[in-house]
Amino acid sequence: MLPLVEWLRPRQAAMTRLLGQFVRAESPSFDKTAVDRFGRMVAAEWRRRGAKVTLLRQRKRGDHIRAEWNPRGYRARGQILVLGHLDTVYGRGILARMPFRLSRGRAYGPGVFDMKGGLVIALFAVDALNVTGCVPEKRIVFLWTSDEEIGSGTSRAAIEREARRSDAVLVLEPALGLDGRVKTGRKGVGEIEIVATGRAAHAGLNPKDGINAIEEIALQIARISRWNQPGRGITVNAGVIEGGTRTNVIPDRARVLVDVRAVRAGDMRALERKFRALRPILRGAKLQIRGGFNRPPMERKNSAGLYVKARSLAREMGVTLGEAYVGGGSDGNFTAALGVPTLDGLGAVGEGAHSPDENILIRALPERAALVAGLLATI
Ligand SMILES: [Zn+2]
Repeated sequence: MLPLVEWLRPRQAAMTRLLGQFVRAESPSFDKTAVDRFGRMVAAEWRRRGAKVTLLRQRKRGDHIRAEWNPRGYRARGQILVLGHLDTVYGRGILARMPFRLSRGRAYGPGVFDMKGGLVIALFAVDALNVTGCVPEKRIVFLWTSDEEIGSGTSRAAIEREARRSDAVLVLEPALGLDGRVKTGRKGVGEIEIVATGRAAHAGLNPKDGINAIEEIALQIARISRWNQPGRGITVNAGVIEGGTRTNVIPDRARVLVDVRAVRAGDMRALERKFRALRPILRGAKLQIRGGFNRPPMERKNSAGLYVKARSLAREMGVTLGEAYVGGGSDGNFTAALGVPTLDGLGAVGEGAHSPDENILIRALPERAALVAGLLATI
C-alpha cells in the first residue's frame, strides 16, 4: 500500500484538475447529448491508459462506457467489475449557479461527490498500479453507466451480465460521512399499489346498495401498517392515497401507493407474498395488487469479506475505514443480489449529494485512489 499512496499523494492537484474538467462537463440523466459529450471525455482518458473501450449505445439515454483493462492479457485469472455512473441529478445550465470551485480544502460543483470524484479516483488508481508495477492478477472491467440516477433502466442488464462473470464488484459511489465509511448494506426498495373497487350508490337514498372503496382501502392500510418491523429493518409506508368524487356518493374506487423496504431478501419475498395474499374485507369489494420490489437488498454477508480486506489495506496507510448501513439503493443492490461479493461507497469523501452544497474533501482523493488500487491488486 505504501508505494501506491506515496505515488498518489503528490498527484492531488492533478486529480483536482481532472475533476474540474469532469464537473464542468454537465451530464443530466435525461440529456443524452450532454451525457455523451461527457462520456467521450471519460472514454478518452481510459484509451490513454491502454484500456479497451466499448460504447454500449443507447437511443434515448446516454451511451454506457465499458473500459476493459487487462494488463496480464490471456493470463488474467478472473474478473473484477468496477461500477459507477456518468449522469447527475442536476438540470442543464446548473453550472451558472453552482460553478466548480475550490475552497478550504473542498471542491464544490454538480456531481463532484455523486460521483465524478469516483470516476477520477478510478483513473488515478490505474495510473498508480501502472507506475508502481503492482499489476492485478485479474482482468478489470470498468462500467460507467448513464442512467443510475433514474433507476438504471437501460443499464441493469449490462451490470448483471458483467457481475455474473466477476469475482468481486467495487462500487465507486460516494462514501458516507466525512470519515469516509464504505457501504456494506443497503435496504431493498419497492413500491406497491393497492386498488379497491366497490359499488357506487347515493349516500342518502340507497346506501345499502353501495360498497365503499375508500373504507375498504382504509381497512387495508390498517392491516398492512401492522407489518412494520423497524427493529428488523422492514418498513411499510402508505404514502399516497386517492379515491372518491363527492361526499354524497359512496365511492366505487380508491387506491393507495405503498413504499416497502427490507434489509433481508427473505423478508422482501415474504412481504411481497403477504401483499399478494390480501383479500377484500368488505363484502362485495374487489382488490388488485400491483408492483413489488425493484431493487433487492444488498445484504452485509455479500460485503463483509471485501470490507475486511479494504479495512486492513486502509490500516496500512494509517487510515481507519468504517462501514455503514443505508436505507437507499444503488447499482450495488443488483450485483450483491446475484451473490457476487460487492463493496459500495468506495468513491469520494464529502457531503451534500444532490444538493446545491455538494462537495468533497480534496485531501481524501489520493487515499481513496490508493485504496481502490490496493483492492484491484489483491482481490
Ligand atoms: Zn450516485
